[in-house]
Amino acid sequence: MEASRSPQVLELLREGGDAFQTTRLEAVLGWARSYSMFLYPFVTACCGMEFMSLAGPRYDLDRFGCALPRFSPRQSDLLMVVGTITQRQAPILKRVYDQMAEPKWVMAFGSCTCSGGPYDNYATVQGIDHIVAVDVYVPGCPPRPEAVLDGLLKLQARVRAEKVASDGRHRENGTSG
Ligand code: SF4
Repeated sequence: MEASRSPQVLELLREGGDAFQTTRLEAVLGWARSYSMFLYPFVTACCGMEFMSLAGPRYDLDRFGCALPRFSPRQSDLLMVVGTITQRQAPILKRVYDQMAEPKWVMAFGSCTCSGGPYDNYATVQGIDHIVAVDVYVPGCPPRPEAVLDGLLKLQARVRAEKVASDGRHRENGTSG
């Protein structure tokens, strides 16, 4: 381990003792991004009731650094799609997604967003991944708040592990992996 460090770093370690740690910039960015998510709630239907309980003090999204909803997509990096999406709403959802700056992530909140849920008909989008790249799916009709928190923790772990592309985007190809 010592042999892999430059003389300058070894000197700093000798001077500073355990007062500081070295790390990679990518790791710091991933850590900061995962615990400072600003969500945009795109709420259309009954799953919105669960979203409200999730955002309230009982389940307290704030504990996970994901507290403040932003009602401008330009200030958000987590698009939480909550509820049934109809074909008429699809272009609006796509426009909101396109307005968000990179890096950005998408959660499909509830069975309707994952697969159309109980609405297997011509008017309902059969999963929002037909419209936008989805990073995490949380099924359930509606999902329990604990399931959404579990999905958020999984997303945060993924964000911490992401590589930062040379153009600052969080994915090389701009699609979900
Ligand atoms: S998943 Fe169930 S609760 Fe959620 S929007 Fe669809 S029908 Fe409503």
